[in-house]
Amino acid sequence: MDEPQKFARVVIPSLLTQPLIYSIPAPLADQIAPGMRVLIPLRKRTMTGVVWEILSENPLPQAKDILSLLDDQPIVDAQLLKLSQWISQYYLASLGEVLATLLPPNSRRDSKRTVVLKPNPPLVGDELCQKVVAALAQHKGKLGVKTLIRQFPGQSIDRALIRLESLGAVAIEDHLAKQRRRKTALINPPSIAAADAEIRFDLTQEQATVLQLIGKRIELGHFETFLLHGVTGSGKTEIYLRAIEQTMASGRRSLVLIPEISLTPQLLDRVNRRFPGKVGVLHSSLTAAERWAQWWRILRGDVDVVIGARSAVFAPIPKLGLIVVDEEHDSSYKQEDGLRYNGRDVAVVRGKLLGCPVILGSATPALESYENCRQGRYQLLEISQRVEQRALPQIETIDLRTQFAKTLASTNTPAASQTVKVKRGERPVMSDLFIDLLRENLAAKHQTLIFLNRRGFANFLQCTLCGHLWRCPYCSVTLTVHLRQKIISCHHCDYRRPTTNLCPECKNESLTAVGVGTEQIEAALHELVPAARIARMDRDSTTQRGSQEALIRRWEKGEIDILVGTQMITKGHDVAGVTLVGALSADLSLNLPDFRAAERTFQLLSQVAGRSGRGDDPGRVIIQTYAPDHYVMQFLVNHDYKGFFDAESEFRRMLNYPPYGRLINLRLDGPKAAEVESQAKAVAAELRRLQSQSEKFRDQIEVLGPAPAPIEKLRNRFRWQLLLKGKQSSALLDFARQARQLVPNARNVRLHIDVDPYSML
Ligand code: ADP
Ligand code: ZN
Repeated sequence: MDEPQKFARVVIPSLLTQPLIYSIPAPLADQIAPGMRVLIPLRKRTMTGVVWEILSENPLPQAKDILSLLDDQPIVDAQLLKLSQWISQYYLASLGEVLATLLPPNSRRDSKRTVVLKPNPPLVGDELCQKVVAALAQHKGKLGVKTLIRQFPGQSIDRALIRLESLGAVAIEDHLAKQRRRKTALINPPSIAAADAEIRFDLTQEQATVLQLIGKRIELGHFETFLLHGVTGSGKTEIYLRAIEQTMASGRRSLVLIPEISLTPQLLDRVNRRFPGKVGVLHSSLTAAERWAQWWRILRGDVDVVIGARSAVFAPIPKLGLIVVDEEHDSSYKQEDGLRYNGRDVAVVRGKLLGCPVILGSATPALESYENCRQGRYQLLEISQRVEQRALPQIETIDLRTQFAKTLASTNTPAASQTVKVKRGERPVMSDLFIDLLRENLAAKHQTLIFLNRRGFANFLQCTLCGHLWRCPYCSVTLTVHLRQKIISCHHCDYRRPTTNLCPECKNESLTAVGVGTEQIEAALHELVPAARIARMDRDSTTQRGSQEALIRRWEKGEIDILVGTQMITKGHDVAGVTLVGALSADLSLNLPDFRAAERTFQLLSQVAGRSGRGDDPGRVIIQTYAPDHYVMQFLVNHDYKGFFDAESEFRRMLNYPPYGRLINLRLDGPKAAEVESQAKAVAAELRRLQSQSEKFRDQIEVLGPAPAPIEKLRNRFRWQLLLKGKQSSALLDFARQARQLVPNARNVRLHIDVDPYSML
């Protein structure tokens, strides 16, 4: 007897499609399972989809057959499918969008449509049709559809092709790309600094207590979220490593998330040394082929530990028994385009679905995480002492207002190149005290870290005669001066042009560079301490693959005396020779129009301060600020996280901001300012109307705005936003889901829904 026909719900990993239903041909019936990839026909194309579920009945009148099965085992396991479902509901994204984010790009094997010109095509169609025919003729009669779309941006190529095909001028062929070979060999083995055996420390009392509590959960294989709040240099990494060992001993695997792999090669070394040959790495600078190879290595269970940045939270690890999120407060866990998820939060949900413990580690926890401990949702584990009884660094502030008064008379800004004038006698860059300490530290052969969260030479070019400010033509920001490359550039869209001193407005040679960036500090240091070995680390100095790592290695080995950099230098380096840290303009992040500005500043400065005094010699930290009395600076100087938490949470509670309220940001953007504005206003009006009809929405949700975003224009798109604020996320999500229906998916005005937003700029 024939088996009854079965069907599969298939999700195409792409932004727009809904799950589709296909029938399963008999020969595939007993091999196919959810989480496997299949090839399916969709309109005139062949696409890769992922089997979401197997159905015994088809709710639709008919279904096409699945063409073939690409895998012999699910590449997304049942737990990850469940996690995808949760993500899709929580972040208001389609399942296709979630799978597109989760799967490596090489997992898709879609067909490519090619247009072939028939011999002696009739001269027909409108202007666009004729242009397409001409383009084909120029390319031996053959072009990919995608290439054509790119050649004629904004024009309806699809319609022209349908027309040409029906007139018999062209044929459209569909070719399937070759199946990409899964490489079994590791293409780019992670570098291991020294193969020397690692010393096995005796744990400190605090470390041992913490590990014991975590160890119990690992043994039981239960879900629990631990917040490991340990001061900088308290040996948190050692706790992760031992917890991973215990997980391995119980026959399970571990996942470690870190903010950015290339910035912390040391951590990767330590993991590799502890678990040689057992570590898989996933991060953004891998090529597509490398990612795909790692994906399979992990899926087959060839590694016991996976370490990676944000997207590694989706690593297909069988028998996952422990998840660690290091520096859990770091904003790089938040994805800011496409699917706007938070990797830390997804990690906790993954642990919950799996029933495995999750460790969130930080010296400066996110307010959300610390509040979760207070509410009893997370268990707080604290380490208050550095290892080896080392002292925390001594932190002091320098009031730049008094420094400013002193330096007005003198000029201490370094000379720049001939082409760009630099405003002299401006605000001081380095205080006298810091310069003295820097010289002393150098004489003692110790290392100094200098932090300034602004790259480039100067912040902008301004005309001293007419006041003209040079702005980006595509974004509402000023262009930054990069003297070494002799360009001014936009840090948002990368628009560049050569530097000049000729004002485009009044045509005088009167443009002047204003403000100070890392490049200028580096130049000033070369004049100030010419004998020192000085290096700079920011996104300009480390564009090549591997250059960040090389620089950090030299810093670790003590081959650099002074390292100047942006927040790239604040992350977890553990370099024993660093005894002086200077934060030159500590207020930069404090003044941003963002409710998290104080929290971010406290975290950033605590992190950079924590780089000091990690060896045998005590560390010192100088914070240059115009706001030494600000509570951020007060608690920072006293290493008082709890004090900071109390002060900050009072303010958040008053305004219903996270962690005491939830936010969803609705951003609309588009190429025409008036269109975006009117859509934003229409959406707001409709949401308020909905609110007036529903008691639940009226009582629980506040609709703020719409207003132009602080950065009003970005990459030539105008931006407006609406903020939804509520006590609980479920009502808020229901409400935001309505907004999704209000804005059609059109090219002109797009709606981006950001649940638990981080950046409101
Ligand atoms: P954190 O991540 O908390 O800032 P790390 O884990 O980097 O701190 O530890 C700081 C340094 O202390 C590292 O060099 C590490 O090897 C060392 N260390 C960790 N635990 C111990 C211990 N129990 N005894 C001595 N040194 C330790
Ligand atoms: Zn720009």
